[in-house]
Parts: sequence; C-alpha cells; structure tokens
Amino acid sequence: MKKQTLIGLTREELESFAQELGEPAFRGRQLYTWLYQKRAADFDEMSDLPAAWRLKLAEVSEIGTLGLSRPAKETRDGSQKFLFELSDGLRVESVYLPDSPGETVCISSQVGCALGCHFCATAKMGLFRSLTAGEIVLQVLEVEGHCQTQLTNVVFMGMGEPLHNYENVVAAVRLLADPQGIGLSARRITVSTVGLVPGIERWMKDDPPAKLAISLHATTDERRAELMPVNKAYPLDMLFKTLRRFAHVTKDPVTFEYIMIEDFNDREEDVDNLARWLKNIPAKMNLIRLHPTGSGLKPSSDEAIDRFMGWLTEAGIRSTLRQSRGIEDEAACGMLFTQEPFKPTKVRAWERA
Ligand code: SF4
Repeated sequence: MKKQTLIGLTREELESFAQELGEPAFRGRQLYTWLYQKRAADFDEMSDLPAAWRLKLAEVSEIGTLGLSRPAKETRDGSQKFLFELSDGLRVESVYLPDSPGETVCISSQVGCALGCHFCATAKMGLFRSLTAGEIVLQVLEVEGHCQTQLTNVVFMGMGEPLHNYENVVAAVRLLADPQGIGLSARRITVSTVGLVPGIERWMKDDPPAKLAISLHATTDERRAELMPVNKAYPLDMLFKTLRRFAHVTKDPVTFEYIMIEDFNDREEDVDNLARWLKNIPAKMNLIRLHPTGSGLKPSSDEAIDRFMGWLTEAGIRSTLRQSRGIEDEAACGMLFTQEPFKPTKVRAWERA
C-alpha cells in the first residue's frame, strides 16, 4: 500500500488522519506542530506522541521529502540553486538567496510551464504537471534544512505560473503563513503571476495570506503579446481594470515585475504608457535585468536603466532595480532543468551537505 505523505496536509486533514488510525483528533494537531513548526525529519523525534503510534505512523505514512538531483550549486554571490527530484522522477528548481533582503527562497509551482513566455527558459519545456501543495512546501523546508537557516521570505518565481495551479498554491501559501505552523509573515510571501485575470479575481475573493506581483514586461498589447502569449487572452485593458479593483479591495500597492529589454520596453514612451495604465493604482515597479536564456533579446544597458528609472520618478512611479543573483552560473529560470544530466538520488537535501 502506498504510504500517505504528511507534508502538505492541513491541520484538519491531520486530525482526520489521526482519527482514521484510531487516535483522538488532538494527536493530529500534535503531528501538525511537529511537521511544520518543529520541522521534524523523523517520527522518532516526535517525543510527545506514544511510541506505538509513532511505529504505526511510520508504517502507513511518510513525512515527505524531495530528492536532490545533484549537490546544491553555490554561486559567487552566495545564492544556492537546488534541483529537486519528485517522486515520479520529474524535477524542479528552487533558489536560496541570502540577504536579498532577508533569507529568501524562490520556489517553483509547476514542472515546466504552459504559458510560453518568449524570454523564459522554463517555457521551452512545456508543462509536465502542476506541483502538489506538499511539493511546494517541501521546497521551502528542504532549502531551509540544507542552508541551515531560518527563511524569512518566499517568492513564487521559479518554474511555472502559480495561478495556473491555483488550489495547490493557495493551500501551500496557507501552510507557509500559519503562525502555528511554518509561521512566515504573509507580507513576505510573494506570488508572481503573468496576469491570469480569472486567477486574480479568485485571489481577490479568497484573500490568501500572501502578496501578488504582476509580471508586466511591456506597455503595449502588441509588444506584450510578442513576449507573452497570455496577453492575447487577457490584454492590458482587461488586466488593468481588474488590478484597479484589486488595489481598491486589498488596499495594497500593486507590485509589477518588469524585465528591462533594450529598445523594446526601456523607451520614454513606455513610461508615458505606464503612467496611463497606472492611473489610480498605487504601484511599485521592480525592474529586473534580463537573463541570457537564448531568447535573442538584449538586456538594457546600465545607462538605459538609469534613464528609465529617472523618467519613472518624474512620472511619480516608484521603482527599484533588483540585482541579478547567481547570473554567472546558469541562474535563469528553468536553466538547471534544461541542462541537467545528473542521476537522481533520494535523500533529504541537507544530508548531502
Ligand atoms: S515566465 Fe513564468 S509564466 Fe512565463 S513561461 Fe516562464 S514560468 Fe511560465
């Protein structure tokens, strides 16, 4: 019989699980604390659970783990890239970014991606499948264990479009932000989307404990559709109408991710367009240097980025430039998977350190 994986289950699900095994519901709550708050890697550590029940648990369930496809790669700036293997042999990447600010992990929500953004290495893989809530949470726990740190920030900017895996991403976010569990601050969990309008609408209703960021990358429908086919389904006018309501409902500024591409989206007219789109939307632009993913697009020069930031300031739009991390070492989204020739092994990540 296949063992039940426990990481990914909610408190209520663990209560039911305990009851199915003939124990009172509070045993499920104890299990929840051991799994998420105390980060137990073995049933033997769960000292306040009866020994006989721990044996039973080990018989019918497993805590959950991700195999490490190869030792983590550390880059010159201290970031570490992990390529994890899932139980069906598929692989996803996660990246640890120290002091960025805080202890940050960038995680994946799908194996591959269906959305085909032109600048993105993951897009070349196509979509294999969505991750479960447990597989999403495990990336955080594995990276934390391996790096021997307490993570403070989680960003969903690895492989996949999070809102294309809505239920599992929201379930994972709730587990990550539960003060009685993993306990991350909701303000330090960021889910980045290309702008799937129905997903944003759902998000508004459900109000999960995380921030939403929008990958914008162009200021006209024509240019955005060139980069991101999703723009044909959800053009800018529709997206910004939704975001205007979103900002009104959440009362939060909307964060936009914007990859700087030479002579494509770094022109003065792009700032004019942005000023029009962002009317009545409190916004912050995160500018990002383009990673070399073989797309043929050219990164904007430092001078062009400075000039662009100056124009944004004049237009009253807040912006920051995100420093590239680990760029010297195949750090772009999806690159590890596409280049990875290693044989997988099944151990907890930090056991390989
Ligand atoms: S940028 Fe994100 S949404 Fe677009 S193809 Fe890559 S992983 Fe998918």
